[in-house]
Amino acid sequence: MNKHVNLLDLDRQSMEVFFTDMGEKSFRASQVLKWIHQQGVIEFDGMTNLSLSLRKKLSETACITPPEIVSEHISNDGTLKWLLRVDSNNCIETVFIPEKERGTLCVSSQVGCPLDCSFCATAKQGFNRNLTVAEIIGQVWVANNALGRYQKKERIISNVVMMGMGEPLLNFDNVIKAMNLMMDDLAYGLSRKRVTLSTAGVVPGIEKLGNVSNVSLAVSLHATNDKLRDELVPLNKKYPIDQLIAASRQYSKTQSGDPITFEYVMLDGINDSEKDAHELAELLKDFPAKVNLIPFNTFPGTEYQRSKTERIDRFRYILVNAGILTMTRKTRGEDIDAACGQLVGKVLSRAKRNKVNNMGNRI
Ligand code: SAH
Repeated sequence: MNKHVNLLDLDRQSMEVFFTDMGEKSFRASQVLKWIHQQGVIEFDGMTNLSLSLRKKLSETACITPPEIVSEHISNDGTLKWLLRVDSNNCIETVFIPEKERGTLCVSSQVGCPLDCSFCATAKQGFNRNLTVAEIIGQVWVANNALGRYQKKERIISNVVMMGMGEPLLNFDNVIKAMNLMMDDLAYGLSRKRVTLSTAGVVPGIEKLGNVSNVSLAVSLHATNDKLRDELVPLNKKYPIDQLIAASRQYSKTQSGDPITFEYVMLDGINDSEKDAHELAELLKDFPAKVNLIPFNTFPGTEYQRSKTERIDRFRYILVNAGILTMTRKTRGEDIDAACGQLVGKVLSRAKRNKVNNMGNRI
């Protein structure tokens, strides 16, 4: 048996295997999952319904180690951003966005990102590695702990979006396990409608997701023709718009027709014309789609600017008129660089920006 397995790496199924391999009953898995994720207890000594000998055995073979908070930043609007250390070289960022009716946690899936979208600050950091399950679900644990959830016993985080640093579908297995824990009643118990995976368009990943998961899907579209999308989201050269739309449609079918959210960053003079809006409406017609317009968030060194408010309103109006449910995402946490596309963490090894193939292997 692996000497120091981090129990945060284990979803329900793997935890049961862990205990049965140890010669213990599988219900120990439920007990330990609840201690960790519902009670916030990460010392074996605190797990009082386990025998002393089992606690001792666990402390010899396992650990429960969440990422460590390096710093916490609070925005004027209440948004919180944490810089979390995941190893001696790398930090990631996690953002909590409180709203009246809900609290959304924006979780990272990779250290940096290999996709190099031209308008995203994370892309400029390069890519180092995939996060482990412990580092992904650990963000949820750390945020709950920091927000006092384990003292208050009330739910503070009601929604999780995989919209932090990285491309979640390029870290497929770990992201799936972490999302399983987000939805597991023994852990965070969020409904599948409140767990959203956002992708830049890894088509085989979307297809695979439909077979193993039922989370909500958001697709970062940003352009209505391949020429422009190739420029904004270079992954488009590999998986062009028609394939992306077809895979999204198929995913929706596997989820009994649940709508797919299309994200569209509003870049001044680039993709925000009335013609673009009409083309987008055409692309998404007869489709269970919602559109989320994201006003561009600036960062040092970018050539892009945010579309004017009137232009965003006009764009939205055209889509709504075409019968497409369209929202403009409220920009939150901008003063602490916590808004969409502003997360950078700290990626020390920047040498690894290589082209990636469809499932994240370097080519
Ligand atoms: N890689 C995934 C998830 C991370 S990004 C994806 O691409 O979907 C979350 C959202 O923020 C995406 O829609 C992304 O395109 C958008 N985004 C990136 N940079 C941005 C910026 N500077 N301003 C506004 N939105 C941005």
